[in-house]
Amino acid sequence: MRLYRGHDGKLRLFRPWSNTDRMLRSATRIALPAFDPAALLDLIATLCAVDGPRWLDRDGARGRYLYIRPLMFGSDPSYGVEKPEEAMLVIMLAPQPSVDTGRPRGIGLLASEEGTVRAWPGGHGWAKVGANYGPGLNAQGEARRRGYDTVLWLLERGGALELTEGGASNIFVVWDVDGRTELVTPPIEGGLILEGVTRASILELARERLGREGVEVAEKKLDMREVARAVREDRLKEVFLVGTAVFVSQVGVIGFEGEDWQVPLGEVATRLKGWLKEIMYGDVAHEWALVVND
Ligand SMILES: *Cc1c(COP(=O)(O)O)cnc(C)c1O
Repeated sequence: MRLYRGHDGKLRLFRPWSNTDRMLRSATRIALPAFDPAALLDLIATLCAVDGPRWLDRDGARGRYLYIRPLMFGSDPSYGVEKPEEAMLVIMLAPQPSVDTGRPRGIGLLASEEGTVRAWPGGHGWAKVGANYGPGLNAQGEARRRGYDTVLWLLERGGALELTEGGASNIFVVWDVDGRTELVTPPIEGGLILEGVTRASILELARERLGREGVEVAEKKLDMREVARAVREDRLKEVFLVGTAVFVSQVGVIGFEGEDWQVPLGEVATRLKGWLKEIMYGDVAHEWALVVND
């Protein structure tokens, strides 16, 4: 999560309820003890009220933020492979420079190779657990070595090559299908995809505000072969990654089967990003923001 110093000088958390609920689901997926998510939010808000102003000065730090990472691990005094009865909860706060991690010409994604998967049916891809990250770092290093920024995670099944996520963030595609414009992201049903809070927010904002402009919003499987066809037919309009860390990052290049696709940068991502920022920095009042009094 992040703690934002708003343009009005107030501190805000963005949809912290969704984050603490997800932390409970993630913790119990790996058999850590359950807890009351509201109590976790109390701890986070208290820490933010005390340490927030030390790092985010009320006047000088408007438009800046701290990164918040709550972390939980089993702490039983035992080596056994068994369900822990005790756990340690740590909440880390770290200063970060700016909200925009995007590149002017977009980031580069390298499609994962056959046999390299991030998540699988019945696994834990949907949960925010450490085991989802370490195993992807070799592929990430290889993508960097070849001049891309991160990995586009694919999964081959049922005769399709499904897009799942990009790096450690959710992915959206804008394309034209039968003369209609569609904004598509893979569904969370099936457990392959992490239930991003940014993803859910983008979906809600897009349905509410882009629907009336004729953009159809869909959560459905995306097959890489279909995306390849859209590239050839010049129907791929935008691709972007979303998440707390990357925020909304437009993709400029996708490397797939030895070819580089140039992806246009469009205004759907830019507008969604603007709407999220307005809420995070308190330019508009919104139920997704929780003000922390400091
Ligand atoms: C955290 C994360 C996301 C994005 O989730 P947000 O709640 O939007 O930050 C997406 N994918 C993975 C693998 C993640 O770890």
